[in-house]
Amino acid sequence: MNNDNTELLKFVELHNYDVDTSKTTVYVDSTTSDITVRLFLNRRITGCPYCMSTHTVIKETTQKKINHCIIPNHKITILFFQKKFRCKDCGHSFMEHNPIGDGISIYGELQMINSLRNPRKTFSDVASECFTTTPNVIHHFDKRVQLSRHTLTKVICFDEIYSKKLTRTKYSFCMFDPMKNVLLDLLDARRKNILEDYFIHIPAKERAGVNFVNIDMWQTYLDISERFFPNATICVDSFHVIEHLTAAMDKIRLQVQRRFVKDKDTDRNGYYWLLKSFHYYFVEDFDKIKYVRKPNSHYAYLWDKHQVLAKLLSIDEDLKVAYLLKEEYREFNLTEE
Ligand SMILES: [Zn+2]
Repeated sequence: MNNDNTELLKFVELHNYDVDTSKTTVYVDSTTSDITVRLFLNRRITGCPYCMSTHTVIKETTQKKINHCIIPNHKITILFFQKKFRCKDCGHSFMEHNPIGDGISIYGELQMINSLRNPRKTFSDVASECFTTTPNVIHHFDKRVQLSRHTLTKVICFDEIYSKKLTRTKYSFCMFDPMKNVLLDLLDARRKNILEDYFIHIPAKERAGVNFVNIDMWQTYLDISERFFPNATICVDSFHVIEHLTAAMDKIRLQVQRRFVKDKDTDRNGYYWLLKSFHYYFVEDFDKIKYVRKPNSHYAYLWDKHQVLAKLLSIDEDLKVAYLLKEEYREFNLTEE
C-alpha cells in the first residue's frame, strides 16, 4: 500500500480504524469513480470468548460486503475481510470483532440519517443517493430515530393518515392538538390493541388532564377515549359530522326518488326528474350553488335557485325535515365558536 492509499483511506474515513495497511487496497474505478476498499484489520490478540485462552489461530477469512455511503451519490463499497479464529485450547471458533458495520457502515448510516434531516428529501431520494433501497432507508430511520412524544394537552384530536407505502399497516394513527396546531405523536398503526398498549403507558395523571378528545366516528377511537380519558368530553369534529349528515341526506333523497321512478315518464310534476337533476341542492352549500337551467319537458319556464329549492322541499315532508335539520347544524357550525 502506497501513500496514495493512505490519503484515500482518510478520504473514505477509514483511517481511524486499526487498518492492516500491508494488505488493504483502495481501488477507484476511473470511469464510474466508484470506490472499492478491500479492508483488512490488524490482528489483535483477543481471548477466546469461551475459555479466555489467548492461544488462537486464524482458521479462515470471510468477505463481508458493506455499503459505505458517506458521500451522497458516490458509490463506496467496503469488502471487509473478517478473520475467523479457532481456539487451540477448547476448539471453539469465533469471529474477529467487526467495528465497521453490517450491510451498511456506521459512518454510512450516519450520513444516511443526516441526509434525512433535509425536509425536502424523501426516503427514496436518500435511497438513491446512498445506493440502497427505500425500505432499507426506512428501516435504518426507524432503528435510529426515536421521536419522543409530546406531553398531552387539554384538547387532543385523533386522526389517521393513509400510509400503506410507508408502514406495515394501511393507516397510521396521528394525535394532535387542534388548538395549538401541534402534532403530539404518530404511530404506525391505529389498531385497537396497539392504541391500548400505547395509552396504557402514558401516566394516568397526564391523561386525566385532557379535557376534550376530538375523534371521527370510528368505534375504536370512541372506546379508547372512554377508557383512557375519564375526565374528557368526547366530541366528533364538525367535518366528520357534516360528512355523516351528507351521506344520510343522500340516502333519504334516494329513498324518496325511488318512489317516483315507476311514474317518471308520466308524472306531470316531474318529481323524479327534479330530485335526480338537482340532487346537489341537498348536500351543497346553498350560497355556492349556481342555478343552471336543465333542459326538460316538465318546466318550460326559467326559475331561480330559491324556487328550485322550494319545489324540491315540497315533494316530501321527511325530506324537508332532514334538509332543515342538516342546515340547522351547518348554521350552528358557522356561527358557534
Ligand atoms: Zn477457547
